[in-house]
Amino acid sequence: MKINTNYDNVSQSYLFSTIAKKVAAYAAAHPDKKIIKLGIGDVTLPLAPAVIEALHGAVDEMGKKETFHGYGPEQGYGFLKDSIAQYYAQKGVTLASDEIFISDGAKSDIGNILDLFATDNVVLVPDPVYPVYVDTNVMAGRKIIFADATAENGFLPMPDFGVDADLIYICSPNNPTGAAYTKEQLRVWVEYAREKGAIILFDAAYECFITDDSLAQSIYQVEGAKECAIEFCSFSKIAGFTGTRCGYTVVPDAIAGGKLNHMWLRRQTTKFNGVPYIVQRGAAAVFTERGMAQIKANLAVYQSNAKRIAACMDELGVWYTGGKNSPYIWLRCPKFDKSWEFFDYLLESATVVGTPGAGFGVNGEGFFRLTAFNTPEATAEACERIKKLFS
Ligand SMILES: *Cc1c(COP(=O)(O)O)cnc(C)c1O
Repeated sequence: MKINTNYDNVSQSYLFSTIAKKVAAYAAAHPDKKIIKLGIGDVTLPLAPAVIEALHGAVDEMGKKETFHGYGPEQGYGFLKDSIAQYYAQKGVTLASDEIFISDGAKSDIGNILDLFATDNVVLVPDPVYPVYVDTNVMAGRKIIFADATAENGFLPMPDFGVDADLIYICSPNNPTGAAYTKEQLRVWVEYAREKGAIILFDAAYECFITDDSLAQSIYQVEGAKECAIEFCSFSKIAGFTGTRCGYTVVPDAIAGGKLNHMWLRRQTTKFNGVPYIVQRGAAAVFTERGMAQIKANLAVYQSNAKRIAACMDELGVWYTGGKNSPYIWLRCPKFDKSWEFFDYLLESATVVGTPGAGFGVNGEGFFRLTAFNTPEATAEACERIKKLFS
């Protein structure tokens, strides 16, 4: 037996465990202090009533002989794929049903899609970034090169046509930076991918936060993207499905003459049993008129929190990305060069918790992520404390 030694090269992430330890130690030493957590990377509002009703209805169906569902299609039920196709149609994107694959989440698919690609492909990943892109490729032993996201390029790196890559990761709106590409910028990435014969793996998990028309909600809003891009999306952020689990991946028929679409179908039918019927019924309710109205009300809470944090940074004259079109605010640490020192100072002086940028990559040093996933009251109070501390 020979183990996959590539796992030895996966770097241990101590980011969230270190934060948890520091916060617990502070709480134990200061039981009287109210800690406000703006480091949360998970949604906090419950599922919408329309989703809950659909889940209940589907549970009842499972209890009756006439409406019971056993093994379903591994790639998802038609009713959900049709709803997703309609959602894309509203963005001006036409998708065929067989281009949409339902899954238990974007993270799984982002990892699993690598089954389709040889290990000697060169992978281009922005830095800083969602750690899954790097770790899944390290596990497979692929060579990774980085595109520097910095304050100079607004944390939106553009392609260097002098550098060759085969698989390109783009996350927009971005986690952790909240920065989002315009359609025009993505057009250049599509041009680069087509010139290199590369594939873009586009993570659209936060597309629902986009309000600005010039920004892309889907890479397929860019002409030619269907020939070079796979898109991952999820019900996690739009509808609070982080614990319920449902996502989807678009593999266009136009890539490599339909080969990747067929391979992904073969991969999923072989290694995946599909998402529970009950969950898919809940997910479909997201796209009903009532469901969408309820979900938009939830999103509005996060959006207003993000705006409040951004306004606080504006007042302090602190440089940041995100805040608009994203639940994240990525700020340059005021008065500190090291993001962990800023973390300690913010915890001890304002009792506010965020996430040090250094945990997301080399270029994250000196930056800090605050999230909109808390209550409006706690967010407002955190902003007041931060203002007091730095004004
Ligand atoms: C939350 C998130 C996802 C969604 O993942 P799920 O597995 O569907 O919950 C994907 N990409 C990024 C960057 C995220 O932050």
